[in-house]
Formats: sequence, structure tokens, C-alpha cells
Amino acid sequence: MAQNISVIKKKKHPTIDFAASQIKKYLKKAGLTQCIQIILDIENQSNEDTISIQPHNSGYFITGSNPRSVLFGVYRFLSELGFRWIRPGNRGEIIPDIKSIRKNIRINEKASYKYRTLCIEGATSLQHILDLIDWAAKNGMNGYFIQFDYGTHFFKRWYSHQDNPYMKPEKFDEDDARKAVEIITEEVKKRGMRLEKMGHGWTCRALGIEGEGWDPAKNSISEIPEEKRNWIAMIDGKREFFKNVPLNTNLCYSNPSVRSAIADAIVEYAEKHLEVDAIHLWLADGSNNNCECENCQKARVSDFYVQILNELDEKLTSRNISTKIVFLIYVDLLWQPEIEKIKNPDRFIIMFAPITRSYIQSFANTKPEQGIKPYIKNKLEFPKNAADNMLYLQKWQEMFNGEGVDFDYHVIWACYYDLNHFTIGNVLYRDIVYLKNMNLHGFISCQNQRVSFPTNFLMDILAKTLWNRKISFEKIVQESFSDAFGTNDSKKVIDFLRKMSLLWKPMFEPVFIPQPDEKRIAAGIKNIKTMEKLCAQFKPFVARKAKSTTGATGWSWKYLNYYLELLEVLLPAMLNYLQRTSECRQKFEQVFEFLRKNEKILHPTLDVSTYIKVLQWRVNEAEGNT
Ligand SMILES: [Zn+2]
Repeated sequence: MAQNISVIKKKKHPTIDFAASQIKKYLKKAGLTQCIQIILDIENQSNEDTISIQPHNSGYFITGSNPRSVLFGVYRFLSELGFRWIRPGNRGEIIPDIKSIRKNIRINEKASYKYRTLCIEGATSLQHILDLIDWAAKNGMNGYFIQFDYGTHFFKRWYSHQDNPYMKPEKFDEDDARKAVEIITEEVKKRGMRLEKMGHGWTCRALGIEGEGWDPAKNSISEIPEEKRNWIAMIDGKREFFKNVPLNTNLCYSNPSVRSAIADAIVEYAEKHLEVDAIHLWLADGSNNNCECENCQKARVSDFYVQILNELDEKLTSRNISTKIVFLIYVDLLWQPEIEKIKNPDRFIIMFAPITRSYIQSFANTKPEQGIKPYIKNKLEFPKNAADNMLYLQKWQEMFNGEGVDFDYHVIWACYYDLNHFTIGNVLYRDIVYLKNMNLHGFISCQNQRVSFPTNFLMDILAKTLWNRKISFEKIVQESFSDAFGTNDSKKVIDFLRKMSLLWKPMFEPVFIPQPDEKRIAAGIKNIKTMEKLCAQFKPFVARKAKSTTGATGWSWKYLNYYLELLEVLLPAMLNYLQRTSECRQKFEQVFEFLRKNEKILHPTLDVSTYIKVLQWRVNEAEGNT
């Protein structure tokens, strides 16, 4: 251990031990030989994250409002010294050479939002997640959310390599999933971060069947104990799995036994999993799939939902379990309850999940267009415009004034509508700034675990804006790109991606749905020609930098170079999409082939399988199969 670096821990906590080991490790890596004393402490204890860095005679005080804030303070101190983590994983670490440490670092900051959480989605390996969690802590994000008990579905998507013949399928069974979640939990807890779990699946547990993902039913209805078969939602007079997927099957929520079974399943889980800070209680996935029986027709699904929430709260309270419950405003549950009220708001976090919204405009600069649509069970029409979505949240907030978060999807599909990321990045930035105006206390990014291709820009926006909503978009742009590409060359990359994103705008959203938008199609075709020229001009420079630059910055250029190669097949494919030619599918096949062939190199930054899935939507759209 480096003898010159002494760390004094004023409070005992595993996360503060970890913070101490991190500061020693990194200062040593930077070659520091000067003697320095770092004092770590907790001050003004709170669940909200506050950090303070102040010099003393022989070093620095680094304090935080809780153990993880002390760790955030350590990483912030290191970043003041020039350390950077420009993307998750070991290809993202920048270690400066440090001879001595300057004495004028003074920082006092409080995070703008209490909840800054990443959620498992897409296809992922265990290592991808561990890299992401490590990056998140280094960039001030404080929570990780594993959907389901073991997130099995997301792991299987990666380990099976189903859509890439160039990658060998790897074994991943229930045991592996359990072990993976144990390791993830350990890493989250080591950093003092918040752990959230579950979501969909309680409806399955209440029935006594597995609900770990969207798999089709194994043995149809016969999987369910006979006495529970009438718990299944009745649709068109029948009680069966909705489109044969148990996870998408709602229950007959007017039945008190059904509500109790859901509450009891959660109590049982919460008792066994005190390491989970917040449990998500969502109903079935899918939409317009609710019970039409006589008793269920008497109230909205959200009224029955609030009955479950209240019953659950009472049961948890009687067992002295303080776990937070996150409830979901999503599809059918967008419509607020008419009768029931939440009795103990402190137990809950309201989670707004506007999955049907558009990502071309932000909450901040959109006006309502259609207002709240009528509630007609199983014939619901969902709001598209971001501001229309907010109207539904406001109705819920008239009844519930507790804490809330936006669970949003910028970084799962919309991030792939335009890989230049400036359009979606600006929407993400504005949305996060605006959360406070929506009376929300944070953000859960339902996202791919690998979103650093061609750059880490979106992840930087997410972390930096959640920490400090007063930061300007331009400051994030400058920081993100000069960290990734070096101050001298970053302007060229920014100019290129900004222009490309502007030119890509006509194609950001489907052009043939609901009907062909001739104006956008014409603009898109014209812009593709301009983009091809821009790429041809920029490519030699990037290729040279990719060859001559090493370390994390070198990887930035390499990924950008791969992106320019990808565009050589992607732009022609997009052109064929716009022109709806018969070659569209074959052109996209070339794109998929490029991605599959290079997945071994690109995978830490790009979720190839999700990206291909999103591109497939465009092919299907051009072929008229939506
Ligand atoms: Zn019913």
C-alpha cells in the first residue's frame, strides 16, 4: 500500500472503507509520491446526497451526508485532479500523472434529485452490469433497479446470443441468475447505493406460477391451481392467459382474495429481502387486458390497485418492515382512481412511466393537444404527446402528494433512432431539468446497459443533469466530448455529430405511420446525400486518430471510426427505407451483418441485439408490417 497516502475514517461503514480504498488505489495509480492526509466523514446526515471537499493543512476533508455521498465525494475529488471515467468498463478510465495535489479545491454540492437510478433492460451480461454500476457510482448516480427477482430475461438475451451466429451461446441457468444477482447486490451495497427490485410478476406469484419474464405459458392454464383459475381476468367472457403470456395476464382485481394474494406475496418477499430498499408493485404488462367481469366493471383498475397498495402498507407496517413501495402509473393505470386514496404516502413512491410518449419533444416545451381521453376499459387510447402524458400524472398527484419519479425510456429505443444522439440528448436533458416542475424527485432510466456507442454522451447527460439540474446543456457537451476526444479535437466531433443529428431528424420517428409523411421523406432523402458527404470528409481524420491514439481516448476514436463504417451501410439502408424499395430488407441485412461481425469489439458500448430489433421496426414499417 502507498505509505504516503493516509486516509482517516471518522465513521465506521463498509462504503467508507471502500471509499478509502478507492482513493488510495487511484492516487497510487497516478504516481503520487507527495504525502497527503485525507479525512473521510459523514456530516449533516441525510438520505439525500450532499458532498463537501475542503482543504486542511496536510490534505483534504471529504465529507458526505451518508456513506455513498462520501464515496461520491472521493470520486468528485479525483475528477478535480483529472481522473475520468468516460464510459463504463476498463476502456473508459483516464488516469492523470500527479506529482502533487493542488490546495485550492473547495466543493459544496447537493444533488438536485434524490433518486438517480439505472434500471436493467435490453440484453446484458453480468460484467456489463458491474461495469455500469461502477461507472454510475463514479458519476454520482445512486440507485440500481433489477426488474424481476433475477432479471433472468435480460441475461438470457445476452448469453444465448440468439441473433448473432458469430457469437457462441453461453450457459446461463437459474443458478447463474441467482449468483449474478448476489454479485450485483454486493456491488450495489458496497457503494452504499439503493437497490430496487421486482416490478411486473406479482400477478404470476399470486397465482403460484413463475413470472420472471415474458415467456409464453409452459402448460397453459393447467399450471395454475384449480381454485385460483377464476382469479384470471375475464376478457370476452374467457379467463385465460392474455395472448398466452402469463406476465401479461391481469387478474380479477375486484376479488378481495386476489388483492390479498398479491399483497401477501410482496410481504413475504420483503421479509426475506431486507437488502431491497424499494420494491416495485406493478400489475401485468401489456395494455387493454383487464378483467371485464361484473364486479371489475364497477371501478377503474387504479381503484383496485390503490386498495392493494393500502392493504400492503398495513401488512408491512404491522411487521415493522420499512421497505418503500414503488407504484406505477402506466398504460391502464394512467387513469387515476376515482374513489380510493392512498392512506400512508410515506410508504410509497409514485412512478410515472409514459411509455407511449414521443421522444422528439420534451416535457418542458410541449403543450397538451388532446387532453385526458375517456376511460373505457380495454378500449383505452394512450397519450403520445409528452404534455398530454403529464396531465394523467397531475390527476394522480391531486390524490397523492408523496415522492415521485419519472421511469422513462429515452435510452432504450429512442437512443437508437439516431445514434448521433444530439436530438434525443437534448430531450433527455430538458426532461430531467423539468422533473422538479412536475413535482418529481428523480428519474429511473429504463435502459440498455451499454449505451456508449458511438459516444457516452447520453450517459453523461443523464448523470450530470440528475446531479445538477442547473448545468447547461452546452457545458455537458463540452465536458463530455473534451473528456472523450481531448480538448483540441473535441470541437470537430461535436460539430460532426450535431450536424448529423439535425440532418437525421426527418427520420427520427417512423415516416410511414400513421400515413406517409411526404415532406419528411423528401427531406430525409436530401439529407442522406449531405450526410454521406460529411462522413466522407470526416472519415480520414477519424481513421488516423483511431490508429494513433491509445488508452481510453483511443477507444473513443476507434468507436467513432466503427460508427463511420457503420454509416457506410446504414445510410444506404435508410435511403431504401425512405424510398420503400424492394431492396430495403436486404440493405438492412448488410447493416445487421456489420453489427454482428463486430459485436465482439463493440459489445461493451453497444447493445447490438436491441439495436437490431429497433432497426427491424423500420424494415417492417417499410414493408407495411407494423
Ligand atoms: Zn373481475
